[in-house]
Amino acid sequence: MIYDYIVIGSGFGGSVASLRLAEKGYKVLTLEQGKRYNPKDFPKTNWNLRKYLWVPALRFFGFQKLSFYSTASIMSGTGVVDKNLKVHGYPGLYITDGSVIQGNIGVNPSLTITAMAEYCMSLIPYKKGAHPTDVSKQLMHLEEEWKKKRSV
Ligand SMILES: Cc1cc2nc3c(=O)[nH]c(=O)nc-3n(C[C@H](O)[C@H](O)[C@H](O)COP(=O)(O)OP(=O)(O)OC[C@H]3O[C@@H](n4cnc5c(N)ncnc54)[C@H](O)[C@@H]3O)c2cc1C
Repeated sequence: MIYDYIVIGSGFGGSVASLRLAEKGYKVLTLEQGKRYNPKDFPKTNWNLRKYLWVPALRFFGFQKLSFYSTASIMSGTGVVDKNLKVHGYPGLYITDGSVIQGNIGVNPSLTITAMAEYCMSLIPYKKGAHPTDVSKQLMHLEEEWKKKRSV
């Protein structure tokens, strides 16, 4: 199988990217390492550690992952991505999830991440011959409106 795009992770950023690329007529492969959660998989209380924490080595398969480090050294440079979320020096590689946000933007960042992914995907053209869906047409209309407002 040959794909136009491979999206790694189906979180807030990845799922938006996958959907929009598919709508634009591309063949998309989305790889997800996590499991599919059903309503019964969610714990009624956080004290149900097996269903709350993600520590596979202890057979805890919940959704809250904790990572511990003995030391942390962070050297910050000019950034991994440009203003359009393209990775510098790697044409065709984009990062559209929360990892590109260099600080804590609040406790509920999902909408920001979704908007970032939407913006990045809006810059990718439709595949030649693809037929825009009604939703895509609406988004294209919004994009045009937004561009007009920006140029004023
Ligand atoms: C318990 C909890 C409650 C939260 N509640 C809220 C809330 O109410 N409102 C809100 O706005 N935000 C909430 N958040 C925060 C929100 O979930 C995150 O900010 C958001 O999910 C980040 O989106 P993302 O796309 O950056 O990453 P994620 O949504 O984490 O997506 C990353 C995906 O990539 C997958 N992945 C990682 N590595 C690989 C790999 N190597 N191969 C394949 N797949 C891989 C992961 O399994 C995951 O599915 C909550 C978070 C937690 C933990």
